[in-house]
Amino acid sequence: MQYEAIIGLEVHAELETQSKMFCACPVVDTTQAAPNSAVCPVCAGMPGTLPVLNQKAVEYGLRVALALGCQVAPVSIFARKNYFYPDLPKGYQISQYEQPLARNGRITILTPQGEKSIRIRRVHLEEDAGKLTHVEPVGAGLVPAQGDYRGRPYTLVDLNRAGVPLLEIVTEPDFRSGEEVRAYAEALRSLLRYLGVNSGDMQKGVLRIEPNISIRPAVEVGLQPALLGTRVEVKNLNSFRALERAVAYEIQHQAELLEAGKTVQQVTLGWDEAKGATFVQRVKEGEDDYRYFPEPDLPPLAVDEGWVAQIRASLPELPYARFQRLRKQYDLSAYTAKLLVEEKAIADYFEQAVAAEPSVPAKAIANWIGGELFSLMNQAGVDAAGLRVQPEALARLVKILSQGQLNQDTARKVLAEMFESGKGADEIVKKRGLQQVSDAEGIARMVAEVLEACPNEVTSFRSGKAGVINFLFGQVMKKAGGRANPRVVRQELERQLAAEEQ
Ligand SMILES: [Zn+2]
Repeated sequence: MQYEAIIGLEVHAELETQSKMFCACPVVDTTQAAPNSAVCPVCAGMPGTLPVLNQKAVEYGLRVALALGCQVAPVSIFARKNYFYPDLPKGYQISQYEQPLARNGRITILTPQGEKSIRIRRVHLEEDAGKLTHVEPVGAGLVPAQGDYRGRPYTLVDLNRAGVPLLEIVTEPDFRSGEEVRAYAEALRSLLRYLGVNSGDMQKGVLRIEPNISIRPAVEVGLQPALLGTRVEVKNLNSFRALERAVAYEIQHQAELLEAGKTVQQVTLGWDEAKGATFVQRVKEGEDDYRYFPEPDLPPLAVDEGWVAQIRASLPELPYARFQRLRKQYDLSAYTAKLLVEEKAIADYFEQAVAAEPSVPAKAIANWIGGELFSLMNQAGVDAAGLRVQPEALARLVKILSQGQLNQDTARKVLAEMFESGKGADEIVKKRGLQQVSDAEGIARMVAEVLEACPNEVTSFRSGKAGVINFLFGQVMKKAGGRANPRVVRQELERQLAAEEQ
């Protein structure tokens, strides 16, 4: 039987504010800071303390909500979500439940099959929990000297992350494949970075993705939709690759269960990257288990209309709008435009380069950025901020290439040197004597020499092996030290071979 997957997504994004959600503790990089170095009585959950709302966190949340086209609630309510866990010292998390910050948004994603609009159900504010590190002592070195663990496993608690502002973004179940889910996660990460509210540094856990997945027998278009199957939730995926793999695995796994006449259990799953499989973490608790009630220590959050309008007006051009504009304005392919807009800094770089040399086709500049420059950046692990090639310098390189002063191959080498040294193309070309040789006389002489040195290849060419011309072309280019204008070489080669035949 054919099955259709129904997938929804919850994303938890830490907000990059200076201080935590309800206290003045700084938000620190939890992978760098000493454990429990950014903790106070409020975020440690001491009795008698009171939370004070971080206005910047609300502003960041509103930025995201507005960028997603959501309706902002004039008044939203904080709620206590009660559960016990060692990384949650209060015994409850302050979240939003019945009255979230915003609802009913949309985002357009670009999948390999085309564009798709995904509905956003809600966006709400909450606080993050601390971090637990489970340690399995394998040698004495792992057990702290002062601890008496007798070699048993133990857990370390770090509350630096407890109380960090968190935004939860929940979609409707609009996805049908792991590919679509990935496209959404990438689009959302890009959006959050454009808005300056989240670093997108997924390895540090600042963006965690939780898909919920069910399958049902596929129905033909126009028929009554089948009932939804039992859904499972996969927790805390923090890479696009893990997300896509976990969804694909779960769809396959559920189909196998149903085929075998078994049922899907409603559970919360983890993802084992090494095994490439999900595993059951716990039997899913219902919402009742959390005993939500309005947070008595915080008043309702009323957002001023004027403030919302101000935030709306301050939003930058967003990735999808920019994607559409770049395609139209510079006649770029969807592929290239998507590549350029993913990072705001790269899209800015492209437009600065185009502005610097208006006579150079924008497409050519886009291709150099998306091709050669990206490959150098990836190899060296350099991002846009650390790039030594200025946009004007790249544009200049593409210009002298298009004027025929360099050939493609040499231009690549020049860019590699620009990337290393930060020097301009003209300087490197001059210093290394890389100007392309286009003079017809010199090229004609080199072609004649090569034909004389390769009589066997010339004979093969004449007997109909047309491909041999590529070998001869290579020989001429080698003779010219790679600097000859390839178009002129090819023309001259064809001319002399034809002349000799007569
Ligand atoms: Zn604190």
